[in-house]
Amino acid sequence: MIDSKCKQCRAVGEKLFLKGERCFTPKCAFIRRSYRPGVHGQARRRALSEFALGLLEKQKVKRTYGVRERQFKNYFEAASLKKPSKVSALKPADLLLAGLEKRLDNVVYRLGFAFSRSVGRQLVSHGHFFVNGRRVSVPSYEVRVGDAITVRPQSAKMKIFGDLKESLKKHKAPAWLIMDAKNFEGKIKTEPTPEEIGSPFNVSLIIDHYSR
Ligand code: SF4
Repeated sequence: MIDSKCKQCRAVGEKLFLKGERCFTPKCAFIRRSYRPGVHGQARRRALSEFALGLLEKQKVKRTYGVRERQFKNYFEAASLKKPSKVSALKPADLLLAGLEKRLDNVVYRLGFAFSRSVGRQLVSHGHFFVNGRRVSVPSYEVRVGDAITVRPQSAKMKIFGDLKESLKKHKAPAWLIMDAKNFEGKIKTEPTPEEIGSPFNVSLIIDHYSR
């Protein structure tokens, strides 16, 4: 059976890696059915207008990070308002992605505590993580450089974290994060840069889309 997450990939015509390890196997629904879901899914797609391309790119990013339209717009507005400074000469497109990357649910996923962002969001909202020793259960919480993310000691004994030690050995966190797998502790080393995020999305199309 193909679930709703896989349908999201098929709808936007790209793998969004929403289901963890399965996304890297031949069981991936996008590999098996790389056409849009629905009765007209296999019909040829008309060439998309610039507006539609921007909209499509926005859908891809929103679905990847699991944010709703209002939240996404807030990230966009925050990114557009930031002026380039000596500290950061990043463009709005880069700042938009950096804002999304710094969400606690994404950081938990990037550190390898969760096999997908949606699982990361669930674990955070159930209060399984501490940030600098304090329990944080807000998935959109924005981490800062120097923050330490740890698994709550009581939660570390739970079944859901049972295989974590082994899976963390295989996991490689991005360069802007430091992972101490032995102590179940992750740290924010630097701000995420576009190179480190390595986004497959054309975020400039989204900026143009909102600027119309
Ligand atoms: Fe499903 Fe992952 Fe493949 Fe997307 S990339 S279709 S979520 S298995």
